[in-house]
Amino acid sequence: MRILLIEDEALLGEAVATHLRKWHAVDWMQRLDDGAEAIENVAYDLMLLDLNLPDGRGIDLLRSLRQSGKGLPVIVITAHDQVGDRIEGLNSGADDYVVKPFDLGELAARISALQRRSTAMPSPRLKVGELEIETGNRKIWRDGEEIPLTAREWALVDCFVHRLGTIVSKSKLEEALFEFGSEIESNAVEVYISRLRKKLGSDVILTLRGLGYRMER
Ligand code: CA
Repeated sequence: MRILLIEDEALLGEAVATHLRKWHAVDWMQRLDDGAEAIENVAYDLMLLDLNLPDGRGIDLLRSLRQSGKGLPVIVITAHDQVGDRIEGLNSGADDYVVKPFDLGELAARISALQRRSTAMPSPRLKVGELEIETGNRKIWRDGEEIPLTAREWALVDCFVHRLGTIVSKSKLEEALFEFGSEIESNAVEVYISRLRKKLGSDVILTLRGLGYRMER
């Protein structure tokens, strides 16, 4: 999944980005205007939004996002003593919040839960053919045997399991795999798909020429 993190505190931003990059592509911005521009250019799956930023209030970006009809899932990051901020955040269209200082494991779990809600995926554990997948713990088994995946392989699986039975375009997969500034080889998606087929089974992901890829229910 491609996540936009807007947080101006360098240490916190770095810690969050590093942690989440184990499973997701993360674009980290420290200014509100950079974040707003990023949203115009990338179809993010989720945003983590600090409310106090050097060039304005996160709430204003959240409000304008909701007013323009964008349903992007948003978790706001608030200071510990600001109950009013939390209430204002939720009333302005945030889906969840975390309070500084927060545990990175808890943040990752909240992201996973919100992703499940926003894609209407009822269970954190699902069966797809011979595969069993736990999205929260990021584990996958084939015929009962756990298959280790790299961060980018998981990013692709994650993209498919939240869109089972639907076509996922190559550009969507590229967005889930790569952040701003990373070099993308034109065949990168094909390379990762072929690795996944080797690990998970050749018939798990279908190619639909000219359209994209699909994982069946
Ligand atoms: Ca701040």
